[in-house]
Amino acid sequence: MKPRRRKVLLVEDDPLNLELLQTVLEAHGFAVLVAHDASRGLELARREHPDCILMDVQLPEVDGLTATRQLRADPATAHIPVVAVTAHVKKEDAERCLEAGCVLHLPKPVDTRTLPDIVQRVIAAAASTPSGGTP
Ligand code: MN
Repeated sequence: MKPRRRKVLLVEDDPLNLELLQTVLEAHGFAVLVAHDASRGLELARREHPDCILMDVQLPEVDGLTATRQLRADPATAHIPVVAVTAHVKKEDAERCLEAGCVLHLPKPVDTRTLPDIVQRVIAAAASTPSGGTP
């Protein structure tokens, strides 16, 4: 039986970075949805039920951590694991990501060699815990 194609939602306002992540993930067999801001990201998350969300923290208007809290508060999207992507890599920044409900925090620039495997692991971890990957 062929496994279902995993769906990843990218929320990122930088078009070049978005294109890079999309290309890498599609090359590894993921179906990719893209949003350039948080409100579109929330809309797609509710409608498309992605298996994982890569969330840029620095977004125009609503930032990525606020968007993550909104995803967590909505029963329709609370189970979807969110990976924060941010240029800020200090310990406090990582803690803020976890507090907002992200399962993981990746520094920018994202390492494209390890990204597909990380996304796969995050999806597998979320599938094996009823709460959606936050043990
Ligand atoms: Mn950004």
